[in-house]
Amino acid sequence: MDCLFCKIINREIPADIVYEDDEVLAFNDINPQAPTHVLIIPKQHIATLNDIEEHQLATVGRLQYTAARLSKDYGFAEGGYRVVMNCNEDGGQTVYHIHMHLMGGRRFTWPAG
Ligand code: AMP
Ligand code: ZN
Repeated sequence: MDCLFCKIINREIPADIVYEDDEVLAFNDINPQAPTHVLIIPKQHIATLNDIEEHQLATVGRLQYTAARLSKDYGFAEGGYRVVMNCNEDGGQTVYHIHMHLMGGRRFTWPAG
């Protein structure tokens, strides 16, 4: 499949991987928007948030669980952090394999731009 993030999962394209288990992979964003900016993705290819099926809910939940666990490892769980999932064009999605942005190490404003 011609998907950038599937290629990272399959080690066809290098990435700076920070966490991996049977269901998810996490790696540093190539264009970080915060001191820590990690992308957390399911190993199953799911193109957008609109395509999640009921049997995938545990895997999708694991994205959030991984974000929380990593935030503790990075030391900003208590201070706070931002998680973002963009969907389709108006949401700013550019890679069509769902991913959770975990950003920390600075203060974020709201609403997001
Ligand atoms: P989104 O715009 O929400 O689809 O996010 C896609 C993210 O993937 C962006 O933050 C990009 O900087 C990031 N990205 C694109 N290519 C790579 C890559 N090869 N390795 C790591 N991150 C990437
Ligand atoms: Zn994919």
